[in-house]
Amino acid sequence: TYVVIDNCIACKYTDCVEVCPVDCFYEGENMLVIHPDECIDCGVCEPECPADAIRPDTEPNLEEWVAFNRKYAVQW
Ligand code: SF4
Repeated sequence: TYVVIDNCIACKYTDCVEVCPVDCFYEGENMLVIHPDECIDCGVCEPECPADAIRPDTEPNLEEWVAFNRKYAVQW
């Protein structure tokens, strides 16, 4: 799955939301998050993000953001 990191905070763009084929972006407190069970790992959103805030969860040291995305996405 892909995750959104803190570069997203205060970003006004929603290009990622528009390209996601499964609509798995959700509103966190002050940034977007990706629902980890709905993301199909297509990677389409990553290059669309002008803040470089979308990363594959296979990158190192993202545990905090993996948990954050799950916390704020699954409540919807
Ligand atoms: Fe949506 Fe694909 Fe991005 Fe996952 S990787 S959030 S399915 S656009």
